Amino acid sequence: MNTFDKPEGAQRVRLPPRTAEYGGHTEVLVVGGGPAGFGAAMGAAAAGAEVVLVERYGFLGGNATAALVMPLMSFHNEMRQAVGGDDTRLLPTDHGEGEPVVAGVLWMLLDRLVRNHGAITPSKETGYTVPFDPELFKLVMYEMLAGSGVRLLLHAFASDLITLPDASRVVFETKSGPVVVDADVVVDCTGDGDLAASAGAPYEIGRPEDGLTQPMTLMFRVGNMDRAAFAGYVRDHPDQWKGVHGLWDLIRDARDAGELDLPREDVLFFATPHDGEVSVNSTRFGGLGISVWDLTRAELTMHRQLASIARFLRGRVPGFASSYVIQSGVQVGVRETRRVLGDYQLTGQDVLDARSFDDVVARGAYPVDIHNPNGPGTILRRLPQGTSYDIPLRTLLPRDVDRLLVAGRCISGDHVAHSSYRIMPISMATGQAAGVCAALSARVGKPPREVAAAQVQRVLRAQGASLPSAV
Ligand SMILES: Cc1cc2nc3c(=O)[nH]c(=O)nc-3n(C[C@H](O)[C@H](O)[C@H](O)COP(=O)(O)OP(=O)(O)OC[C@H]3O[C@@H](n4cnc5c(N)ncnc54)[C@H](O)[C@@H]3O)c2cc1C
Repeated sequence: MNTFDKPEGAQRVRLPPRTAEYGGHTEVLVVGGGPAGFGAAMGAAAAGAEVVLVERYGFLGGNATAALVMPLMSFHNEMRQAVGGDDTRLLPTDHGEGEPVVAGVLWMLLDRLVRNHGAITPSKETGYTVPFDPELFKLVMYEMLAGSGVRLLLHAFASDLITLPDASRVVFETKSGPVVVDADVVVDCTGDGDLAASAGAPYEIGRPEDGLTQPMTLMFRVGNMDRAAFAGYVRDHPDQWKGVHGLWDLIRDARDAGELDLPREDVLFFATPHDGEVSVNSTRFGGLGISVWDLTRAELTMHRQLASIARFLRGRVPGFASSYVIQSGVQVGVRETRRVLGDYQLTGQDVLDARSFDDVVARGAYPVDIHNPNGPGTILRRLPQGTSYDIPLRTLLPRDVDRLLVAGRCISGDHVAHSSYRIMPISMATGQAAGVCAALSARVGKPPREVAAAQVQRVLRAQGASLPSAV
């Protein structure tokens, strides 16, 4: 299929001015309903603010549901070394005991999901990752938001943030035409920092040497596989399977026969809460997740890879003979785009040194996990055993803009630090922190950066967030 590509030397054209429907005012406006947006809306509402949450799709969850990124990565500081990286295991693991370093909204969500049979409790056996059901994930989020009094607007894509003297105004593109919503404070949880960029906040993209970002991946669910037969194959061929990665000989044979279009060196599976089902994370496309041209090419390329990998599983992998593709993501999963520059930029060294900060508002223990932007391979580097790193409030405060916070994968950090804090549990924790700061800012009528970190920490603790006890 041909893609409609950007013409050579494309120019910008001026559009006519337009009017919009006025959607009202709220104290806190959270844009983006992924893990960070959910954390932000719940945190702000629990801190007493009037909250509106707006999402471009007709459902919540972000990558967790739209891109079928189905396990929550570990948020525990495992005491022993383990294999890992974007993964959950099908087989018993070699993880040691670990302490959770994220709590608060994440634990509330998990508790409900597990009670609804929608997730598997994190434990040594699951490698502290949490396989979950994406449909139940959506439903539980709706219930929790409804219980917190958060108002929801779906099918609304934020295209602009305008700074007014006494409010931030966000423009949404909708089927009803343009709609604007005013807020005392906006929390940008778009993952891509769309609003921060629109408001003029500086940002970085990609690694310093060439600006390349981590690749995108189209994830898909495969059903009707025989887990016992597959586990038997792995048991009998230990050299073919390490952690969750493997099938090397089968891949080589399929490649030699010209049958397999696989951009990785191995196949990566995720367990799900359902027997007979796995989630596959093995497609890749190097490109920029905020370029409509790259996104289009990514969808087409990775659907071709999906078909090839599914054929390979059915044709060559024990346990998969009767398997079929249940579903692929509504869109390709985007790992990395804008990293908005804030009052502090968290570095890879901060992460690997397990650094502490006085203005800590969230914590992480997940390794540096960089999927090669232009080829096979993944860099995985762990923190010292049993430690975690702090995420300071300053990373949520975009430079040069007031009445705006960022949360989730677009906070202020370098390419290496981002590869750790991007995971969903940590995104939810930075979301909760940003929501609390936004609520306090709206209450006292001061910009977010004038809210004392100690006050944000007090409220976060009262909400059950996990912060170091020394603070
Ligand atoms: C392929 C892949 C595998 C991954 N594996 C794992 C894993 O196994 N475990 C893990 O924990 N993490 C994993 N991650 C990382 C994780 O999924 C993301 O980093 C995380 O979801 C970030 O959360 P977020 O809320 O910041 O952004 P997102 O999840 O991207 O959510 C952003 C939300 O904002 C909405 N939005 C975007 N722009 C606008 C706009 N302009 N207007 C209105 N709404 C908008 C989106 O629709 C979406 O709902 C993976 C990521 C990818 C891509």
